[in-house]
Amino acid sequence: MEGLVKRYGTVTAVNGIDLTINSGELFFLLGPSGCGKTTLLRMLAGFLEPTAGMLFFDDRDVTATPANKRQTGMVFQSYALWPHLTVRQNVAYGLEVRKVQSAQRDQRVMEALEAVQLAALADRKPNALSGGQQQRVALARALVVEPSIVLLDEPLSNLDARLRQRMRSEIRRICKDRGLTGVYVTHDQEEAMSMADRIALLKDGAIEQIGTPEEMYGKPRTRFVAEFLGDTNLIQGTIAGQQGDLAGIQTPLGELLSASPASNLPDGGNVTCSIRPEAFVSAPPAGPHTALSGTVSERMYLGERCRLRIDIDGDHGESVEILEVGQSARQSSIGAHKSLYVAAEDVVILAD
Ligand code: ATP
Repeated sequence: MEGLVKRYGTVTAVNGIDLTINSGELFFLLGPSGCGKTTLLRMLAGFLEPTAGMLFFDDRDVTATPANKRQTGMVFQSYALWPHLTVRQNVAYGLEVRKVQSAQRDQRVMEALEAVQLAALADRKPNALSGGQQQRVALARALVVEPSIVLLDEPLSNLDARLRQRMRSEIRRICKDRGLTGVYVTHDQEEAMSMADRIALLKDGAIEQIGTPEEMYGKPRTRFVAEFLGDTNLIQGTIAGQQGDLAGIQTPLGELLSASPASNLPDGGNVTCSIRPEAFVSAPPAGPHTALSGTVSERMYLGERCRLRIDIDGDHGESVEILEVGQSARQSSIGAHKSLYVAAEDVVILAD
């Protein structure tokens, strides 16, 4: 995508997107409601014409290519299955439209149904299938035309939580087994983090950050990214000094050591740091780190983990939220005094 823009009257839904999605990649467009992800996906599919910019599949300019000539397969949130057709007929439809001969058609339909493990139900109608099975029919229908790209628009949002979990790994397996390039739209950060090779987080029609789930979660560039991808502690401070890759930041918690690149920041400059709750650990890490101590003031037991609020020692009234698992979580009761450590690489200086 080069400089892709879509305006509806005075509304700019997509505001100049430059993006390369690699062949065979499962790529996620993630962002809050209204950020432009569906509009972007529809431009990829050819259902919407860009107001400006260009779109390429490999080095082929497809900006003006109609949807049915693009070799994309689309999976919709609503599945959009035909109720009067059987599973087999639903999946075959795209091949009939493309005038594929019947012998070859039958074989390809069965292959697609086998890929989604539904061959045994080929003669059922959609209303005799569970939500998850209907979703897999929709996926088979997209796969059967052997698309170069499969486009998925919130395909799991109509499923219950357990089924959604299972379908996450199934969709990823099917895409990877077939070497498909997938573009997947969701507002669910957990879905994106658990399935994606890479994620683009969108805000107001523009890309806020692109990266692997680990990069996005561990090295958020802005406050929006840090907060969208999970819980975090945001701590204000000023740069106290820098040496090599390390910066000392004066904060109400005390001086924190950060290993995020801070080379453009002047000493004394104001910054905001993001520290994930689980980055606070109870034993000193091997590399550069900061030591803190405080008292447990709130405790929320969540089964396999425990969320604690720690009032940091001193008279500045600051606290942080931390996450503990296993034995240490069971032993942390309200009023307990704790030593905490945070590695310099887990103190991330944000760009805003
Ligand atoms: P959601 O997660 O709620 O589906 P989204 O990120 O997919 O949101 P889009 O559907 O792409 O967002 O919409 C982006 C913006 O464009 C929104 O402000 C929306 O109101 C606007 N928009 C979308 N379609 C139209 C249209 N046909 N006419 C006018 N404005 C539109």
